[in-house]
Amino acid sequence: RRGVQLVVSGQPPAAMAYGDLAMTERVLDNLIGNAIAFSPEGSRISLVMSGDERFLEVAVQDQGPGIPEQDLPHIFEPFYRGSAGESSGHSGLGLAIAERMMTLQGGSVHAENCPPAGACFTLRLPVAEV
Ligand code: ADP
Repeated sequence: RRGVQLVVSGQPPAAMAYGDLAMTERVLDNLIGNAIAFSPEGSRISLVMSGDERFLEVAVQDQGPGIPEQDLPHIFEPFYRGSAGESSGHSGLGLAIAERMMTLQGGSVHAENCPPAGACFTLRLPVAEV
């Protein structure tokens, strides 16, 4: 298939988050799959891990066209595919399910465009109290 570079970086803090592994895997799979679908040949997808004493975060950033401003407030709605996704043959359910799966775990998923170009999705899980 096409060549896209996947780069993992960041400094996850020495903390644990409790979550559902199957759900978190599925959300990451969805975000990375979308990033690949929108990535131009030879571009890079970055997975950046970070966090503080309250949250662990994983950001998935691509170098694709980004999410059109008019679509941004809606992309987590079920069946919303946005102007770029209409012809893709997808259901528009992926991100709606991802958001539900993250909130069920006490976490969240957030979308924005990151300069100079590309979409950036950030997953967040609360750090476990010990
Ligand atoms: P599907 O399940 O059909 O793949 P999603 O819910 O995952 O749909 O995504 C909804 C819409 O959000 C997509 O149709 C597309 O318009 C937009 N989108 C999602 N990820 C990206 C991305 N990485 N870059 C640009 N647009 C994106």
